[in-house]
Amino acid sequence: MNVHEYQGKEILKQYGVDVPRGQVAFTPEEAVEAAKALGGDLWVVKAQIHAGGRGKAGGVKLARSLDEVRAHAEELLGKVLVTHQTGPEGKEVKRLLIEEGCKIEKEYYVGMVIDRSTGRVTLMASEEGGTEIEEVAARTPEKIIKESIDPAVGLLPFQARRVAFKINIPKDRVNKAVQFMMGLYRTFVEKDCSLAEINPLVTTEDGRVMALDAKLNFDSNALYRHPDIRELRDLDEEDPREVEASKYDLSYIALDGNIGCMVNGAGLAMATMDIIKHYGGEPANFLDVGGGASAEKVREAFKIILSDEKVKGILVNIFGGIMKCDVIATGVVEAAKQVGLDRPLVVRLEGTNVELGKKILEESGLKIIAADSMADAAQKIVSLVK
Ligand code: ADP
Ligand code: MG
Repeated sequence: MNVHEYQGKEILKQYGVDVPRGQVAFTPEEAVEAAKALGGDLWVVKAQIHAGGRGKAGGVKLARSLDEVRAHAEELLGKVLVTHQTGPEGKEVKRLLIEEGCKIEKEYYVGMVIDRSTGRVTLMASEEGGTEIEEVAARTPEKIIKESIDPAVGLLPFQARRVAFKINIPKDRVNKAVQFMMGLYRTFVEKDCSLAEINPLVTTEDGRVMALDAKLNFDSNALYRHPDIRELRDLDEEDPREVEASKYDLSYIALDGNIGCMVNGAGLAMATMDIIKHYGGEPANFLDVGGGASAEKVREAFKIILSDEKVKGILVNIFGGIMKCDVIATGVVEAAKQVGLDRPLVVRLEGTNVELGKKILEESGLKIIAADSMADAAQKIVSLVK
């Protein structure tokens, strides 16, 4: 789960990570009020969307007067911001962060991720901050410093200090940078983050070491023990189909292709996407309806697939182990009748009650193309959507 920058900064602050003072605003009036409350004579108006690259796309603006704050807020609120992370459709700005402007000395990068090959949290840092870290990794990989953290003892101060020296933090600021990294690590562990990225971390003319940006991702499987984090979920930022799917406890991920997939079991769902690609097609989604899905769940899953305009055809691939084929068939028929099936549907059923399932489909009067094997099913749906 992602949160907004301003929410990430609030969390980091609790762990002693220095961040600029700021306030969220939903209207231009609130933006001006926030700037007044912050005081000073330099503010930054920042679009809050769940995507980076806002600076380059015009979503981060400096203001030197309250009138400028208002003007920037009026311009940004309601604007669809297209950054290299939003995709071409962009994201509408509905919230702003009004922040005190900082006198930046230099920008750095500090991030933490889980390295799956070592099973440890890795601290990454670079003196090339502000730019995209992927670019730095491609052009000058030697400028990315890594430190693997032993979970038994956590990030040790000497490791943080070593990183601070390697990325050339000014000597008089090293202790603050160490404190910063220790705070970031504690946040990461205690809040069950899957990613924490500070780009840029800055040193300022008045001697501070602070996070000017904050991107925190949380492990969705751990949210049950962080009700405070779960509250920060912003459904506006998520794919509406994924939100709908989560209501029915379906594992659904939207993808770019045009073949909608309904499968039971994550492994079979992955294999189904693979075989679609193998025959030259592109899956429109990953969908695991789960082991013991009810007809209602299947119906809702089918509706979600059909609501995607990109979907030109559907492949249902079910192995009835715990799940019974007749339950699946009933759900598919109910959904198709409710929303109208206007696209080709290929069904491959196997397992418990398979004959009954096939009979339900045949007698439904729906135009369904039956398939005998996964390969057969994939070939059929790929040729139908072409
Ligand atoms: P994004 O990564 O989405 O482009 P950032 O929060 O990193 O957004 O902001 C982009 C740039 O704007 C930063 O690299 C920094 O130079 C500048 N900036 C952001 N916040 C502030 C601030 N509070 N004071 C001064 N400059 C800022
Ligand atoms: Mg940034």
